[in-house]
Formats: sequence, C-alpha cells, structure tokens
Amino acid sequence: MAQKLAAGNWKMNGTEASLAEIDAMIAAFPAPGCKVLICPPATLLERLSRRAGNGPIATGSQDCHMKASGAHTGDISAEMIKDAGGSYAIVGHSERRTDHGETDAIVCAKAEAALAGGLIAVVCIGETEAQRDAGETLDLIGTQLAGSIPEGVTGDTLVVAYEPVWAIGTGRIPTIEQITEVHDFIRTRLIERFGAEVGAAVSLLYGGSVKPSNATEIFAVENVDGALVGGASLKASDFGAIIDALQKA
Ligand code: PEP
Repeated sequence: MAQKLAAGNWKMNGTEASLAEIDAMIAAFPAPGCKVLICPPATLLERLSRRAGNGPIATGSQDCHMKASGAHTGDISAEMIKDAGGSYAIVGHSERRTDHGETDAIVCAKAEAALAGGLIAVVCIGETEAQRDAGETLDLIGTQLAGSIPEGVTGDTLVVAYEPVWAIGTGRIPTIEQITEVHDFIRTRLIERFGAEVGAAVSLLYGGSVKPSNATEIFAVENVDGALVGGASLKASDFGAIIDALQKA
C-alpha cells in the first residue's frame, strides 16, 4: 500500500516570518493520519527543519543537483539537503523543466543523485495544455516516466507527482475522470517496470490548484495517494484543511 502524503512546495516564497506557519501546522496536527512534507526555498530549509524537529512534518528541497559537489554556482547537492535536515527532494517540477531547460535525462540524473544521497525523490511529470488538446497526454506521461525515473527505486525512495502544467497556479483542475485515467496509467507503468510490489507502494500525488474546496474529491480517486500543493501550502489554515481531507480519505 502506498503511503498517503500531503506535500507543500513553497516555491520562491517565504522568509523567517513564514516559519510561524510550521508551528501552526504542528499544533494543529501533532499526529496526522498521513505523511506531511514541506519543501521551502533553500534559504529556509535548515531553519524549517530545526523547527519541525523530530515531529510529524518532514522537510525537503525543491531541486537537487546531479553532482555531489563542485563548481556549480547557485546549486545545492543531496548531501547539503540532508545536512540542512531535509529528507526529500522534488525533481523535474515543470517550472524547472521550463525555466532551466531540464530534460527527462537531467531529471533522472537528479533523482539518482537524490537517492544516492539518501533522500526520497519526488519526480514531477505532466502535460502542457497543448499536449492535452492534441491527445498526447498518456504518450507524454509514459515518456516522462520512462525517462525521468532511475532504476532501483522502491516505494520508500520514490514519489511520483502528476502535475498538469496548465493546472499549476491557474485555479483550473482536470476532471476527476482525467485524473483517474492518468493516475491509473502511471500505476500500471510503474508495476510493469518495477514489479507489482514496488509499483503498488510508490505514492502517486496529484498536483495543480489543489485547495481545501477540491481536495476531498481528488483524494477519493483510487490511485491518488496525496497531493503536491503550491499556493495553498503557504498558509497553515489552507494546508491544514488539505491534510485533514487526506487523512479522512
Ligand atoms: C506546484 O507548483 O507544484 C503546484 C501544484 O502549485 P499550485 O498548487 O499553486 O497549483
């Protein structure tokens, strides 16, 4: 059985004052009925990890360089993420694929580096609106899955986040039928590649405009094990409502 996971991606948002949101989340959910993860900007990772302590909220980064160290100005490695208290690394977010030209091969190398450094890789995939309109969604998802996920993963080291690019930050979400179709497809492909046990144990997150108002219907989909949440993860009240919907699902 895949673990339920509510993951927050703060993107390029947050300063010292934002850490109070963590305190509010911990106070509201001292023992949540699902795994909770916050991926703040790199500047806050250590402070947030210290604040979270050994409590129920895990922390992680929004990226991870493919190399362990070296002359890569502005980047951070898996070892640094671990050192700052993180245990997860998001890789292949569509904003990084677009803003930084990250290909499936780069994403795969980053996921590999995250795993080698003892982190759990959250690999993001998803189609653009033009790809969906052209009927290419499942082909694209199949290609991204094959190209972005390294060999040797398990349900303990890999999370896959399906994030339609056109749903991120737009307030638009796919229909429940569309989410179901893609998540069933991802599950099938993972089982085909990694076997029934591993394929069934990988948490599949839906991401893209998840809010308290739509979380319950999304979490009712069979192969949705949680969400990767951007905007709504910045406020403890909104993210708390999403955590609550997931723990009840
Ligand atoms: C994201 O960036 O991963 C995301 C899902 O953003 P939002 O929830 O704001 O659409």
